[in-house]
Amino acid sequence: MELLSKTLARVKPSPTIAVTSKAAELKAAGKDVIGLGAGEPDFDTPQNIKDAAIAAINSGKTKYTAVDGISELKQAICAKLKRDNDLDYIPAQVSVGTGGKQILYNALMATLNEGDEVVIPAPYWVSYPDMVLLAGGTPVIAEASLQTGFKLTPDQLEAAITDKTKWLIFNSPSNPTGAGYTREELKALTDVLMRHPHVWVMSDDMYEHLVYDDFEFCTPAQVEPQLYDRTLTVNGVSKAYAMTGWRIGYAAGPEKLIGAMRKVQSQSTSNPCSVSQWAAVEALNGTQDYIAPNNEMFARRRNMVVEMLNAAEGIRCPMPDGAFYVYPSIAGCIGKISAAGVKIDDDETFATALLEETGVAVVFGAAFGLSPNFRVSYATSDAQLKEACTRIQNFCAALT
Ligand code: PLP
Repeated sequence: MELLSKTLARVKPSPTIAVTSKAAELKAAGKDVIGLGAGEPDFDTPQNIKDAAIAAINSGKTKYTAVDGISELKQAICAKLKRDNDLDYIPAQVSVGTGGKQILYNALMATLNEGDEVVIPAPYWVSYPDMVLLAGGTPVIAEASLQTGFKLTPDQLEAAITDKTKWLIFNSPSNPTGAGYTREELKALTDVLMRHPHVWVMSDDMYEHLVYDDFEFCTPAQVEPQLYDRTLTVNGVSKAYAMTGWRIGYAAGPEKLIGAMRKVQSQSTSNPCSVSQWAAVEALNGTQDYIAPNNEMFARRRNMVVEMLNAAEGIRCPMPDGAFYVYPSIAGCIGKISAAGVKIDDDETFATALLEETGVAVVFGAAFGLSPNFRVSYATSDAQLKEACTRIQNFCAALT
């Protein structure tokens, strides 16, 4: 009998792993590698948050908690959703999990039956399609293009919806493109959803606080209050508060859905780490003062990276609104030969040759469902970014 399940066979291994392990291999062999693959801020968790965690440990808050979160954290989340998004939720409508990733997975596990479709705009965060597959659903990829700034148009959404559609997964600002939907653009999408009352929306707001140049973040339930009853608003503390390792994510939505997600979590992981939950209470209730200076730094880096990549031959790099990624097109490099004699057939060969020949590690676009592109994370020092972009420019200049 086959050991591994048929469900697992539907899921592909993470395409980013190949690049990451190659980078680690080259580094171990003594090569000067600059990693631009990380999906996390390069600054430390703020001290007030660490202090709250230490206080939680010292006061014995180290035992099991309620499965989907302590009430203090649920209240902090409700206050945050009111303060930042003008959304009214009560703690019974809130679920806390081990990262936004678990929350998204719980929601899909709790709702998908075989044959249910989930519309995922591409480029997408790598985990969405595979999570849908693991939960037994069918991902329906709706490809956005460079011409629309990697944003899905209402017509594309309309065309992707069928009788079997259960969810739209919406992510703004986006990983991997950094693209953010304006209020008008989002309203145009929610108007489409209003015409299809059987479709729910899972809004992944993970990069809410990482927006630049006065970009106004907005989320579906806020833009279209009539969608409130079929929206799951997902967020977390990983990105804005540099808390990726603490593993706290959360969501707010209809009680029936939140209860079903609690059931999934109760039979899998139980509560997220008690100490991390207390740290997250401080993250949400405490000072938010460091977000603005961090964003200034990210915006400065983004500007430098976009300018330097646009100066590279064959690369076109749009200016994103948020997150800490850029997603340049390498259409102008396809078919050329690198200095070491490698033919650039697609974005995967580009990323591999770039790593082997210059030591710069990026993630190729096929991993995110839109090619030929690559993703750069600029959550690294100015000096490293400058050096990496210079190497990319030299690599492109040497293509023949
Ligand atoms: N959603 C998006 C778009 C992400 O980029 C990530 C992390 O990279 C997550 C969700 C999950 O974040 P976490 O599980 O750390 O809360």
